[in-house]
Amino acid sequence: MQGSVEHFDVIIVGAGLSGIGAAFHLKRDCPSKSYAILEGRDAIGGTWDLFRYPGIRSDSDMYTLGYNFKPWREAKAIADGPSIRKYVRDTAAENAIEQKIRFHTLVKRASWSSADALWTVEAEQGGSMVRYTCNFLFMCSGYYAYSGGYDPHWDGRETFKGRIVHPQFWPEDLDYRGKKVVVIGSGATAVTVVPEMAKDASHVTMLQRSPTYVVSRPAEDASANWLREKLPAMLAYQITRWRNVLFGMFFFNLARKRPERVKKQLIDMVKQELGPDYDVGTHFTPRYNPWDQRLCLVPDSDLFKAIKEGRASVVTDTIERFTETGIKLQSGQELEADIVVTATGLKLEMLGGMQVVVDGVQKNMALAMSYKGMMYSDVPNLASAFGYTNASWTLKCDLTCEYVCRLINHMQRHGYDQATPKSDPSVAELPWLDFSSGYVQRAKDVLPKQGVVKPWRLYQNYALDMLTLRMGRIEDGTLKFAKKPAAANTNRPEAIAAE
Ligand SMILES: Cc1cc2nc3c(=O)[nH]c(=O)nc-3n(C[C@H](O)[C@H](O)[C@H](O)COP(=O)(O)OP(=O)(O)OC[C@H]3O[C@@H](n4cnc5c(N)ncnc54)[C@H](O)[C@@H]3O)c2cc1C
Repeated sequence: MQGSVEHFDVIIVGAGLSGIGAAFHLKRDCPSKSYAILEGRDAIGGTWDLFRYPGIRSDSDMYTLGYNFKPWREAKAIADGPSIRKYVRDTAAENAIEQKIRFHTLVKRASWSSADALWTVEAEQGGSMVRYTCNFLFMCSGYYAYSGGYDPHWDGRETFKGRIVHPQFWPEDLDYRGKKVVVIGSGATAVTVVPEMAKDASHVTMLQRSPTYVVSRPAEDASANWLREKLPAMLAYQITRWRNVLFGMFFFNLARKRPERVKKQLIDMVKQELGPDYDVGTHFTPRYNPWDQRLCLVPDSDLFKAIKEGRASVVTDTIERFTETGIKLQSGQELEADIVVTATGLKLEMLGGMQVVVDGVQKNMALAMSYKGMMYSDVPNLASAFGYTNASWTLKCDLTCEYVCRLINHMQRHGYDQATPKSDPSVAELPWLDFSSGYVQRAKDVLPKQGVVKPWRLYQNYALDMLTLRMGRIEDGTLKFAKKPAAANTNRPEAIAAE
């Protein structure tokens, strides 16, 4: 552990879409506050830098996945990974955020001292441990483990003579031209990778245990592009953003109120895409209702085109075992493969896997209740950026950043050092995410809870959050404020001020 400890008013953990957005908001709304970004990897962009599989792209539109302060100017609304990475990097460069990032700094532990009203953050940096202190800790570390994805056990896996690849660690040298490929999975990654690989592979089979709702949308949004030609960029962006937000909310509410009707509409659309002879019932009719899990978006029907042209196919079955040459299914069918892609998903992880200690006691974050979807019961001066499940991630992150800046400014105005959502045992708990998806169910034991009433309730509703987070009272009776004991001012001789 190094000797001197650098101090910042705010430490942001993570230099992905959220972390760069958080830095922008801090700089704009709390210009007197010093901050640093601690990033475990060597690059800006998070998800959009890590994932390199063929065709990597967003599955929500960039008018809502983009920041509210920086218009998306590209023609494609469903954008490819490199364009999103560039958008995040440009934001960092344009706002002098790059120089605030400490790369290769993987945060392992944060401990809060109420006596000092300080977080001490411990991180691994180039093989040794470093320490920082800060008054407020803003976790922008995403929601899944960077160390590895979900990789289930299958019998016989070691006997397979071909190559097995997980999309989170795509090998640069993977040559799939002319090869038989099986992609295991039916989520966003599978529906992206299948049509893309099908352009060069001899054939790609999407092997799924059960189907997902798949919806096609144009990759380019003609009206958004028209508006951008006619109007100033920011105005055009805001109009399209609001149109998409409202449409998304309308569609989500309709799916919750009339699931049968929405289900029929979605399935009918797939039938139109694939024609009357295709078995849509088996391969594209999920057992759950729309929005019980995230819908999968495909741009310009690319998946359906690949299927219709015979370059790709879907098999709905369960794996019995791997063989030397492919995969044997419970139905008895065997799929031959040179390459198997395990698009089986992510491993959810909270707060970047960091250990949280409050006044000497280690917190089990799975027992904590989320406050306004960003802070945690009985954990002072810490917020995390977490997006919507039913809309684009950044919509919620922008609001979270605005709220955190309001909170920091409020504390400064009133001379408070500590803000803690005070737990209330009388509030009944609900799971944090009400998705039936496997990755959410698998992570039940690591996710915090939400409460049945506000401010503990997660509404997954942008318009409502906009009102409450932008305009709601900071002092709501649940968030408790305190000043540090006077003696604490001289209590940290080892801390040196940053900038
Ligand atoms: C393949 C894929 C496609 C997606 N598509 C969409 C989409 O279309 N629309 C949508 O809304 N959402 C999508 N998502 C969700 C997506 O992750 C978010 O949209 C968004 O990119 C998350 O940004 P983030 O900065 O919060 O997290 P991340 O992008 O995960 O970035 C987190 C950063 O924090 C760093 N970090 C983590 N832990 C630590 C630690 N302990 N110490 C230091 N640094 C740490 C990581 O290295 C990383 O750089 C997608 C996710 C994936 C995996």
